[in-house]
Amino acid sequence: MRRPVIAGNWKMYKTQAETRAFFEAFRPLVGSAKHCDIIVAPPFSALAAAVDAARGSAVGIAGQNMHWEREGAFTGEISARMLVETGCLGVIIGHSERRQYFGETDETVNRKTKAALEAGLTPIVCVGETLGEREGNLTQTVLKRQFEGGLAALTPAEFSRILLAYEPVWAIGTGRTATPEMAADAHRHLRDLAATRFTAEQASGLRILYGGSVKPDNIKGLMAQAEIDGALVGGASLDPKSFAAIVNF
Ligand code: PEP
Repeated sequence: MRRPVIAGNWKMYKTQAETRAFFEAFRPLVGSAKHCDIIVAPPFSALAAAVDAARGSAVGIAGQNMHWEREGAFTGEISARMLVETGCLGVIIGHSERRQYFGETDETVNRKTKAALEAGLTPIVCVGETLGEREGNLTQTVLKRQFEGGLAALTPAEFSRILLAYEPVWAIGTGRTATPEMAADAHRHLRDLAATRFTAEQASGLRILYGGSVKPDNIKGLMAQAEIDGALVGGASLDPKSFAAIVNF
């Protein structure tokens, strides 16, 4: 049985003060939740405030991005060990907005994933097709390329520590959700890829989150699919009540 994970990606939203206010409202709403792992990924400037505000709760804090080098002349970047020092347990890697606006490729996703693992972080590796790719019947081809490229050269032990997020680009921030069946089909394909690359046992242990306009009113249907192990939530994770409703699916 795979333990569900509900993760919130705050993108470029919330100051430190807003982060503290979020946790003050959110903690009592999920205080007794033991059925899933809960992750919140605030912007870099609010990470320390989030770690502090979440201390003693079941919520783990994650970064939204990182550089693969340990340190260096990379203006504007931060490294895995900086995230670890701040108290992060994980990091989102290869989000479609990073791929679309900041030139991330499967190769950079791979470097970052390896560096995150080496530093002891849980990488949440994002994959997903665009609308054009889905309409062109390329979903499986794109997922295969992203899976193989982004996770190249991972050892079985490393692979067992990652979370995979299937996020169809056409469903992110658009209010258009993949149907539970569509999401489950993509997850099945990703699990098959994992079984081919590793073993059936490793594939069945892999936790795959769905992301794309997840809301309190569609989370139940998504989580009813055996293939869906959780959600990566953008917009609806910004509000404590709606994110708590998703966590308490
Ligand atoms: C995301 O940013 O990963 C995401 C899924 O966003 P939204 O839930 O707003 O579609």
